[in-house]
Amino acid sequence: MRFLRLVGSLLVLLCVLCACGRRDETAARGLQDGKKVVVTTFTILADMARAVAGDLLEVHSITKPGAEIHDYEPTPMDLVRASKADLILWNGLGLERWFERFYTRLKTVPVAVLSQGIAPMPIAAGPYSGKANPHAWMSAANALVYVRNIEAAFARLAPQHAAAFAANAKAYGEKLSQLDARLRQRVAQLPPQRRWLVTCEGAFSYLARDYGLRELYLWPVNAEREGTPQQMRAVVDGIRREKIEVLFSETTLSDKPMRQIARETGCRFGGLLHVDSLTDAQGEAPTFLQLLEVNTNTLLKALAAP
Ligand SMILES: [Zn+2]
Repeated sequence: MRFLRLVGSLLVLLCVLCACGRRDETAARGLQDGKKVVVTTFTILADMARAVAGDLLEVHSITKPGAEIHDYEPTPMDLVRASKADLILWNGLGLERWFERFYTRLKTVPVAVLSQGIAPMPIAAGPYSGKANPHAWMSAANALVYVRNIEAAFARLAPQHAAAFAANAKAYGEKLSQLDARLRQRVAQLPPQRRWLVTCEGAFSYLARDYGLRELYLWPVNAEREGTPQQMRAVVDGIRREKIEVLFSETTLSDKPMRQIARETGCRFGGLLHVDSLTDAQGEAPTFLQLLEVNTNTLLKALAAP
């Protein structure tokens, strides 16, 4: 009898030990899995997402710094990486023309559209006339909406970190608002007749609206047919009509069309602006806040010069 009780106790002890072992195993597996992975369609969204995530999530951008993001062609590796993600963040408003097809092969990965809730500005001309201008992040007020959408998506993804995401989003939002107020004040010191933003893509409409700049561009949104003789002619005419003295190009595009117009009109080439992509860590705009600051410096340096 005593022997049976001993066997019984040993069995209970064994079961307890096994259960503990299973709990340890589960914890170890959790550690091995590491952080949840978030994938974004371009570098600016990845930077905002990292600001909200801190070191609690891993964030990757599908397109790399300097890439053309509207008609990007995803690689098989992009698909593999995205299929392993826990969340995908994209801009929407027709920006990533490749994304919907790409996503049909990833249906089980949750997604969030970061432009949700902003009031889009329409594209003024061309084949996409009347559709939303997708570059909404270039207005700080809209970027704050993006940040709130990121925070909400992260709280759904990892509810245990919701308070940390909220604190990060708040701190980042304050930095963004302060920077925006400072930059806006600097642009406001330009004489109104000099506040012209001549670019390749009509990607600065939100910024131009916020900062009281007027726009002239070669094409409304990056597409296959860019820099046609008609588009070039319209900008040359606009420059002459408005007596504009400075023009710009963008970092993700060839500066050839604008250099040619500069030669033809006698306009100064004011430099390259960042809009669809950050630079890599060695470049001048590796974060969104730096992008806004660097663009404003480039604009003011060129537009304020005699
Ligand atoms: Zn663009």
